Amino acid sequence: MKKILLSLLIVILLSGCAQLNLDVPSSSNNNEDSTPFTSNGDMIVAHFIDVGQGDANFIELPTGEVMLIDAGTSGYGDDIIDYIQNLGYTDIDYVVATHPHADHIGGMAEVIESFDVGSIYMPKAVTTSKTYENLLETIQDKNLSIHTGKEGVEVYSSDDLTIEMLAPVSSSYSNLNNYSIVLKITYGDVSFLYTGDAEEENLSEITMDLSSDVLKVGHHGSDTSTTKEFLEGVSPSYAVISVGEGNSYGHPAESTIKLLEGYTNNIYRTDLNGTVVISSDGVNIDVKSER
Ligand SMILES: [Zn+2]
Repeated sequence: MKKILLSLLIVILLSGCAQLNLDVPSSSNNNEDSTPFTSNGDMIVAHFIDVGQGDANFIELPTGEVMLIDAGTSGYGDDIIDYIQNLGYTDIDYVVATHPHADHIGGMAEVIESFDVGSIYMPKAVTTSKTYENLLETIQDKNLSIHTGKEGVEVYSSDDLTIEMLAPVSSSYSNLNNYSIVLKITYGDVSFLYTGDAEEENLSEITMDLSSDVLKVGHHGSDTSTTKEFLEGVSPSYAVISVGEGNSYGHPAESTIKLLEGYTNNIYRTDLNGTVVISSDGVNIDVKSER
């Protein structure tokens, strides 16, 4: 027990050290007079990292903690590690694997090996791929445990910041994509919705409040994910599609782009825009992209 307390203390001390880098991101905070949430570094900065055909979303929370949702294919592990280290972080407080497909967990073992990791969330989905087994072994080797990600799981909650899971709602699906954790981060008046590769079946089961300003579009913009009904619930002002240039799946679908355009013209694509960074002080939203 003493040992546990001691390591807990060390973890707290270490993660304390990692919180010095809060204002590293490039967000231009020039709206200081308009929001009660702005006090220098009190920003949320969401990085939609360009990892070709895959997802890697890194989020600097206003608490100073950071979260990684997915880690691209195995070929992008190093790039993701470099990206996070260049922001000045040595710890990742929360790691979320939306679902165990190689374009989401491929680089994750490498990332977990390279950082001090706090909590890991994964859906209760089983697959026998080498990539998945390798990830589980890495997690075990680092003596980390896996928290089950599903509807209603609260990752963080305070007056002005909540991180909660809206899906998966059911416990079994025939398509692995539908196990995708759908996660909503709300800071002040601004919400970000991350959908992994959730298909229509998963998204249509959600009963919690979907409304969000920023939508990480499901399944790389596939027409099997985003529906009219879903977008009615979300009503996004900004949409980001994480997708590889010239991918063989035809992502994103023209029909998905059309549906999104019914809500916003602020549609960003990692194949066209490179890495996209969206920051907010809890009221205003600022977007920067690589190109
Ligand atoms: Zn995917």
